Amino acid sequence: LDLNLVPIFENDEEFNGVLLVLQDVSAIRRLERMRSEFVANVSHELKTPLAAVKGFAETLLGGAVNDPETTRSFLQIIFDESDRLNRLIGDILELSKIEARRIPLQFSPIELPSFIAKIVELMGAEAARKHIVLIMNVEEGLFVEADEDRLRQIVMNLLANGISYTSNGGRVTITVEPVRTGQSMDQEDADYDHIRIGISDTGIGIPKKDLPRIFERFYRVDKARSRGSGGTGLGLSIVKHLVELHKGSITVESQVGVGSTFIIELPVLQE
Ligand code: ADP
Repeated sequence: LDLNLVPIFENDEEFNGVLLVLQDVSAIRRLERMRSEFVANVSHELKTPLAAVKGFAETLLGGAVNDPETTRSFLQIIFDESDRLNRLIGDILELSKIEARRIPLQFSPIELPSFIAKIVELMGAEAARKHIVLIMNVEEGLFVEADEDRLRQIVMNLLANGISYTSNGGRVTITVEPVRTGQSMDQEDADYDHIRIGISDTGIGIPKKDLPRIFERFYRVDKARSRGSGGTGLGLSIVKHLVELHKGSITVESQVGVGSTFIIELPVLQE
């Protein structure tokens, strides 16, 4: 609460009293705090790979370049860290565009079975590399109205996480089913007014205490592991924003050592 005392003068000179102004600024303060925390996080996240690039380049310049083996391994690190910087900057820009609502969605009806099949095909190589089986479970004829590129981004992001947080030989399953919530009044006759997309893995799982926070920007359960897998910690917050732009919801269930399931529910029609 902001408290301001404003003296009141009559005819610009005679003191006439005091005006008490109370203003609830907690929402504004919270936003300001979130914004400055975000800037601090961004700087920190950018500085880490940049410091590595600089440090390894310096060591090479300082003489390590004379050893071919060291040179090769340091250059690989410099390359990987530059790549990481690139991904970070891309994700940060993407997130800020989405948050500023500078991404107009283009809704069109999407046939889910063929749409999901194409994504599974795209992710196949990545899964095969880790001997992970991708299983698709989609009822024929299901459709949803969505922004095709954004929906692809949502599903690919969750599948990529499923693959990257599951060890070799595991399983990632994507299931799409119709849901009848009765929330849309004018669709009395339709069998379903929402669709549920579940992406489930047999991976490392997420500890209970971390579950409420994984959609936060830059939040990672295990920084070292995530960084090793190339993660930026921004994927899930981008996904959540995109789901909400479709007036949908996302939830997660997980058990450490057993696996995780991310569930998205989207309205079939966007009014
Ligand atoms: P990252 O780029 O680090 O993967 P995300 O925003 O996509 O960032 O995810 C945030 C964190 O949530 C990850 O660092 C990881 O700790 C955890 N996480 C996300 N998906 C999974 C999953 N399928 N299994 C286990 N942990 C996961």
